[in-house]
Amino acid sequence: MPRSAVLLSGGLDSAVSLAHALRESEVALCLTFNYGQHAAQKEIEAAANLTAYYHLPHQVVELPFLGEITGTALVKNEASLPEPELALLDDPVAATASAVQVWVPNRNGLFINIAAAFAEACGAGLVVCGFNREEAATFPDNGADFVRAANSALSYSTLNDVKVVSYTQLLSKADIIKLGLRHHVPFQYIWSCYRGGEKMCGRCESCLRFKRAAQEADLDLEQIAFQEV
Ligand SMILES: [Zn+2]
Repeated sequence: MPRSAVLLSGGLDSAVSLAHALRESEVALCLTFNYGQHAAQKEIEAAANLTAYYHLPHQVVELPFLGEITGTALVKNEASLPEPELALLDDPVAATASAVQVWVPNRNGLFINIAAAFAEACGAGLVVCGFNREEAATFPDNGADFVRAANSALSYSTLNDVKVVSYTQLLSKADIIKLGLRHHVPFQYIWSCYRGGEKMCGRCESCLRFKRAAQEADLDLEQIAFQEV
């Protein structure tokens, strides 16, 4: 069985990807990145709870420079976080406008390369990423083309030919929840909100996509901590 390093933000996609990776590989390490995002502490807590649940090593990688150089609403002015209308989630113009607000320079490129360094160092040949079909429509660093290109570069930059895999990249958020239900993912630990409050805000794009998908996939939201809105 191959060894893997899993990118674990503690959100829906990465939590389900981890559960799937445990069936496809020996998970050597889970990595969470702190670049000063509003949700950083909640994400680290979620990832820590998930890795404790699965008895896996967990490392938080501090990237303060990334938060310093970006103007993204994920790090800077929290009030500027887009709160799109549910009906416009699949509208390409609205989705792109929202994506620009939360873009962080070369974030996934950095995350994959850092994870690949950890993977190579611990003899793992796989980096597992939790991409999804919905966000691949607006974020160029979420789709199959990006994974292929990253793998091409990694074949030169790692001696053990580390490969990026995303088990969820062709799935909608609802399909990801259904996969998570099959794998008995402990959904109560997930933090899928761009904000860092006591409960998930229920209004940011990430929360809206999660809630819409939960409804479609019949996930009981009682166990998920959303604010009353
Ligand atoms: Zn939210």
